[in-house]
Amino acid sequence: MNTTQRHQLLQRAVALAEQAFEAGDEPFGSVLADAQGVVLREARNRINSVDATQHPEFELARWAAQHLDAETRRTATVFTSGEHCPMCAAAHAWAGLGPIVYASSSKQLAAWHKEWGLESPPVAPLTIDQVAPKVSVSGPDEALARAVYKLHCRYRGVASSMSD
Ligand SMILES: [Zn+2]
Repeated sequence: MNTTQRHQLLQRAVALAEQAFEAGDEPFGSVLADAQGVVLREARNRINSVDATQHPEFELARWAAQHLDAETRRTATVFTSGEHCPMCAAAHAWAGLGPIVYASSSKQLAAWHKEWGLESPPVAPLTIDQVAPKVSVSGPDEALARAVYKLHCRYRGVASSMSD
């Protein structure tokens, strides 16, 4: 998988986050790709349309555990609009999946929520590294993190404080 493919897959994850937002769910999206960069599965957040545990990263981990052999899982990468929460990081590691590439970090999301005066979430905002230290992680991508920030502003109904 080359750099261009990786960037396109991360962009696709952000596009899925936009689809989630347009469907009334929280703007998060994720793509599971094999070692060659071929998309195996896509998912988007469905916390409002299904239930509160329907995070895309969790869905991909469960799907991979059920449908892929151990070697395919180990060499697969998850591209995601936002860094995995502890639930999803744990599922990713238990499923034996490979690297994670995220557009925006949990730290950024927590800062945005603080900026908007939202209550702290029911789950501690641990990093992937704190939950699943053996998983190789890269992110954030500053340009795509801005796009994610704007989607979260729209979801929360607040004005963006970042210029275009
Ligand atoms: Zn999650």
